[in-house]
Amino acid sequence: MISLSNRAKILKPSPTLAINAKAKSMQAKGIKVINFGAGEPDFDTPENIKKAAIKAIEEGFTKYTPVGGIDDLKDAIIYKFKRDNGLSYKRSEIIVSCGGKHSFYNLAQALFDEGDEVIIPSPYWVSYPPIVSLAGARPIIVETKEENDFKLQPDDLEKFITPKTKALILNSPCNPTGHAYNKQELEKIAEIAIAKDIFIISDEIYEKITYDGFEFISIASLGEDIKKKTIIVHGVAKTYAMTGWRIGYTAGPEEIITAMNNIQSQSTSNPTSISQKASVEALMGPQEEVKKMVSAFQERRNYIVERLNRIQGVSCYKPLGAFYVFPNFSSYFGRLFKGKRISNSTELADYFLEEAKVAVVPGIEFGADSYERLSYATSMEEIKEGLDRIEDALKRLD
Ligand code: PLP
Repeated sequence: MISLSNRAKILKPSPTLAINAKAKSMQAKGIKVINFGAGEPDFDTPENIKKAAIKAIEEGFTKYTPVGGIDDLKDAIIYKFKRDNGLSYKRSEIIVSCGGKHSFYNLAQALFDEGDEVIIPSPYWVSYPPIVSLAGARPIIVETKEENDFKLQPDDLEKFITPKTKALILNSPCNPTGHAYNKQELEKIAEIAIAKDIFIISDEIYEKITYDGFEFISIASLGEDIKKKTIIVHGVAKTYAMTGWRIGYTAGPEEIITAMNNIQSQSTSNPTSISQKASVEALMGPQEEVKKMVSAFQERRNYIVERLNRIQGVSCYKPLGAFYVFPNFSSYFGRLFKGKRISNSTELADYFLEEAKVAVVPGIEFGADSYERLSYATSMEEIKEGLDRIEDALKRLD
């Protein structure tokens, strides 16, 4: 047997990618699976962005670039932060990486050490705990409650801060719950972070996907003190339907960005040159396509939340952002299918996939076993059909 590294041994494949792969392999066998597992918009990348990439290829922009991204893209990112968040950054405070996940990975490698504690409110994005662990630090999971709209309560935050706490991870709008923090809530968290001298890692990748006129606020924009303690992780994947292009970016104190740059220079080098040019167009070009996508998401969200809440025993929080719902199915735990007990979110997700041919991601993967995550980044037709199947499958339980 090959003796693998301890690092590799603590890892399993990303559950969301794994479910997606299973659904796709069933589809390849001709089974009609409704896939609520995907974490990516079902829309195509807007035409102007694709054209910018084609132009880059035609002009021979196909070589190595500076490790942390081309100046054009850094300037576009600086422009975006100024335009959308009123935040000022210098080029030396920005780094472009190969996707938001890579941005977070490099940040964890640059900031965390053995023994550090990193507070992660649950439900959380699946990749936070393993990436923190890979950097040698300890993920400290702080549970939030559905009745508080899954938001981290200031008292809970204070309770979990110790002298070893290095950072808090905030993800607003949140994957998987879709909650988003308002200004007053962010102010309280910022106050604690400053008083306790901890960093805030603010994952703002769903910034542009918000509903009902919700006004997104970056915690870094609340004042100079909190800006110095905040590192923003962002990317073009979700806003511009560019998941495959792999461009993420980070904004924060120069020392941290320089350290990330060093790590990147010894690992991946620069993100793809062509994708960088496409991302300049995404950030600087017309934003109408984003509005269209968000309005389609909002219509689907309204439908899916309403339908889920109508199912006996299911409760579903109405998200303010992102493109997921996180309904509570725990009242079905303990029920039987053909004599076999379904007792947790994994077994219920398996049941949905096997018996209803519907792929969802078990809540346990996000640290909340009472729930399943459904992505509504899929057509209205599929959503209707998928919910019919789920409703029907639940009725078949004894
Ligand atoms: N952050 C959150 C909360 C996410 O949901 C995702 C993707 O699912 C990412 C970051 C990373 O996105 P990407 O690496 O595709 O840019």
